[in-house]
Amino acid sequence: MKYIGAHVSASGGVEFAPVNAHAIGANAFALFTKNQRQWVSKPLTPESIALFKANCEKYGFEAEYILPHDSYLINLGHPEEEGLQKSRAAFLDEMQRCEQLGLKLLNFHPGSHLNKIAPEESLNRIAESINLVLNQTQGVTAVIENTAGQGSNLGNAFEHLRYIIDRVEDKSRVGVCLDTCHTFTAGYNLVAEYDQVFETFEQTVGFSYLRAMHINDSKKELATRVDRHDSIGQGFIGASFFERLMKDQRFDGIPLILETPDETKWAEEIAWLRAQAGA
Ligand SMILES: [Zn+2]
Ligand SMILES: [Zn+2]
Repeated sequence: MKYIGAHVSASGGVEFAPVNAHAIGANAFALFTKNQRQWVSKPLTPESIALFKANCEKYGFEAEYILPHDSYLINLGHPEEEGLQKSRAAFLDEMQRCEQLGLKLLNFHPGSHLNKIAPEESLNRIAESINLVLNQTQGVTAVIENTAGQGSNLGNAFEHLRYIIDRVEDKSRVGVCLDTCHTFTAGYNLVAEYDQVFETFEQTVGFSYLRAMHINDSKKELATRVDRHDSIGQGFIGASFFERLMKDQRFDGIPLILETPDETKWAEEIAWLRAQAGA
């Protein structure tokens, strides 16, 4: 079965996210558990936590299909000590918020070397950051998202994901999220080479680590390494790829999350994707 949703607003409190997801016909969703553009946010209140859990239950959202996303400020591979420590503290806070909400996944972008250290050194720091935070938390899996490879962002090559996973001590709590737009603009031709791309993914990372997907079309062409999402069927990836993806059972049982730019289309996009899946 396909679990399809969108990255919905949690404005006013995390408890509104499941309400917003239900309103667009989703059976999965993503959210920020704090302001994604600030280093520090107020702790979640017991009332907000209780309402979040009650709303998830009311609308039938299970923790396996809820994909919180961390703050954009966090860089777990930061080349400088101060930035690295700040990022690790903020990531720990994100993980602890997930624990409080009874969530099981935390989606994040791996990090950037900022052209100050070697990519490998930055990847080592990312893996070490994950180990440090997993050691201080329980029950939440660190879900590394592949990137378009814009600027000095790491995670555009499947090998980067593998390199990090190899260095994470608790393999049961590390996974990956493939973003279709990022995959395409990173240079993997999902349109012309569907089978080969996912075979390469299987060989390099393995579907056993695939814990989520971001379902986005792309405003930019193949291998441009630019991250610009488009509505489904409007971009360079195109509708037939998503039709095939929805019929592919390797993507059953994980949250499939839209991060497409026009949120007024989300209900329609979810309904269309579900129709392609035949359920
Ligand atoms: Zn994404
Ligand atoms: Zn993106």
